Amino acid sequence: MNKDIFLTNNLSNKKEKFIPINEKNIGMYVCGPTVYDEPHIGNARPIVIFDILFKILKSKFSSVTYVRNITDVDDKIIKSSNEKKISISELTETVIKSFNEDCKYLNCENPSQQPKATEHIDLMIKMISELIKKGFAYENNKHVYFEVKKFNDYGQLSNKKLEELIAGSRIEVSDNKKNSEDFVLWKPSLEKEPSWDSPWGKGRPGWHLECSAMSKKFLGNEFDIHGGGIDLIFPHHENEIAQSRCANDTKIFANYWIHNAFITMSNEKMAKSQGNILKIKDFRNKVSGQVLRLALISAHYKQPLDWNEKLLNECHKILNKWYDCYVEVKKKVLIPEDLLTPLYDDLNTPGYIANIHKFYEKALNGSIEDKEIFTTACNFIGLLTDTKDNWVKFKKEKSNITEEEILFKIEERDKARKNKDYKLSDKIRDELLNKGVLIEDKDGKTTWKLK
Ligand SMILES: [Zn+2]
Repeated sequence: MNKDIFLTNNLSNKKEKFIPINEKNIGMYVCGPTVYDEPHIGNARPIVIFDILFKILKSKFSSVTYVRNITDVDDKIIKSSNEKKISISELTETVIKSFNEDCKYLNCENPSQQPKATEHIDLMIKMISELIKKGFAYENNKHVYFEVKKFNDYGQLSNKKLEELIAGSRIEVSDNKKNSEDFVLWKPSLEKEPSWDSPWGKGRPGWHLECSAMSKKFLGNEFDIHGGGIDLIFPHHENEIAQSRCANDTKIFANYWIHNAFITMSNEKMAKSQGNILKIKDFRNKVSGQVLRLALISAHYKQPLDWNEKLLNECHKILNKWYDCYVEVKKKVLIPEDLLTPLYDDLNTPGYIANIHKFYEKALNGSIEDKEIFTTACNFIGLLTDTKDNWVKFKKEKSNITEEEILFKIEERDKARKNKDYKLSDKIRDELLNKGVLIEDKDGKTTWKLK
């Protein structure tokens, strides 16, 4: 397979042919989760998108190192552990476990490396010392800041001018800073907050610095691809570039910057601060991870994706249909190039899905070889990876309720409603919904159907 890969590079704002630094080993770094709360559907998008990019790169290059970090020291974590009244380690361990289970559920491969920030504090201290030595950072009152105006290329990724940044409201104001646009590399910790010894006193690193230190360790000073959600472009990625290039004396940090757009719900961004989040783990017992995966790649990664019941139902139906064409593939099967083309063209997953739909028509009444190609093409994006038996079994298990039980539950709910116990009646309705039974009240009568 000789096809070139094209990616939209946010550093140049252009779609470019991917040219690796070293063909023998491709390096990709993606900012992973800050583990203060269990991941939601918005977090699932980059997990799946970059898993697909990992697969595409591996199909062309013999060795790909994919690093996705875990931020396990951060103000959000301290705040969340206080709110939940549990220790920081208990919180981070629980969330990391849940995150890893979510990735598995979404059918993602493990990255080559999943480093934790707290295990690399020594490297961060080293990098800060380097930045101070080179005159890019300064210490004041146990804080260390990066002096933004010392780095001429600052703002290149986000297309922002320094003056705009200074005027921007997202900059944290502090008396310790020389200039308002400077950002923190190290700060002191309060008692009971996690802290490490450093030349500037007991404290902890700034978030941006973590990624600069960990990417350097696993991928070197210059590497191919850096990814993450679109909200990370500024200030996080801009600051990563500044730190890394100044500490390492390089002209580049990462060559290609790839960012996925948001997931919305009723066209509003899904975020904890908006109060409209759906946790991934809440889907685990209701629907196969393949359904979520297909939904997540149903739009191009650069487009916002609106999440709703209809989308999930549609994806469920598509997979049901596709499983009609499923065969067990035991040998290596090549996917025809024209079928693959959209994926190599800036990860055009909807285009690839459309090609699979077309090929389905041919494969359904075609030869066993056609079905093998069809299944392999689905497998390539992490779908139809489970056997048909397991797919059918999962569906049955999730609706393992008899008609008798459903009618009994509806009767119980009617009673609760007559007694004005709406809490109970809602609970019964939700219980049924969890088992895939949708009930509707119309003209004083309750009807039900399977979702
Ligand atoms: Zn990062």
